[in-house]
Amino acid sequence: MPGHVPASTSVTIPWEGERHMATTTNKQRLFTQLLTLAEHPAGGFEETLPVLEQFIYGLCRENATREQADSAFENLKDRFFDWNEIRVSTNRELEEAMEGLSDTETRAQRLISFLQEVFETDFSFDLEGMHKKGLKVAAKALVRYGASNDYVGAWVVQRSLGGHAIPVDAPTLRCAQRLGIIDAEVEEIEAVRATLEHLVPKTKNQAFTDGISEVAEQFCWEEEPNCSACPLRADCPTGQEVGAGAVAAGRATRAKPR
Ligand code: SF4
Repeated sequence: MPGHVPASTSVTIPWEGERHMATTTNKQRLFTQLLTLAEHPAGGFEETLPVLEQFIYGLCRENATREQADSAFENLKDRFFDWNEIRVSTNRELEEAMEGLSDTETRAQRLISFLQEVFETDFSFDLEGMHKKGLKVAAKALVRYGASNDYVGAWVVQRSLGGHAIPVDAPTLRCAQRLGIIDAEVEEIEAVRATLEHLVPKTKNQAFTDGISEVAEQFCWEEEPNCSACPLRADCPTGQEVGAGAVAAGRATRAKPR
């Protein structure tokens, strides 16, 4: 993990136990900062992708950074002649192309399964007809693919279909819970997504997704998040508790007789 600073003291970390919700004022500041962080995304080419490719990019982007997803997606497009060649390739070949992502075996299986399902249904690799279906029908059709899930469906709706959706993967969930934007008790993805879609304006949904992904990548790591360097710390209840714990631990260490 780049810039990962290991914890130097024994600090009680609150995110495995009781978490606090951010106050309304803090939430507003957190959203403003998250959207600011997303103003300088590292890429953004996915916004121009057709629906089928956006679905495949979503398969790569879930639980991955933008850079990892970009690299895997570009490898798939560079190393294979077309989507049909990918459909008939081996799992192993696709795993190699997606190197750098987590659980490439499952992602490769999902990719082949998706392309096979599209091919058997439409005899082509073109899902642009989704634009004419209407948003609700298209969103339901997207999650009906065997390889789909709530994240990929929401990703395509947000990036290609112009709808209001917030895709929720593990880093988004972790970061939103620690920030106190959503209740820590709510773990069901659809409920988390509905809450975030209520809180985030439609015009800002991509910026929110990019911003929280950036924070999760740069600071809010699963183990030992780098709260001391995180720009959201002043308004983050977890960051505040970590800071208070570190101060208390420092005092206890100084008080020990030598
Ligand atoms: S301060 Fe930043 S890194 Fe720490 S828990 Fe909050 S969002 Fe995560």
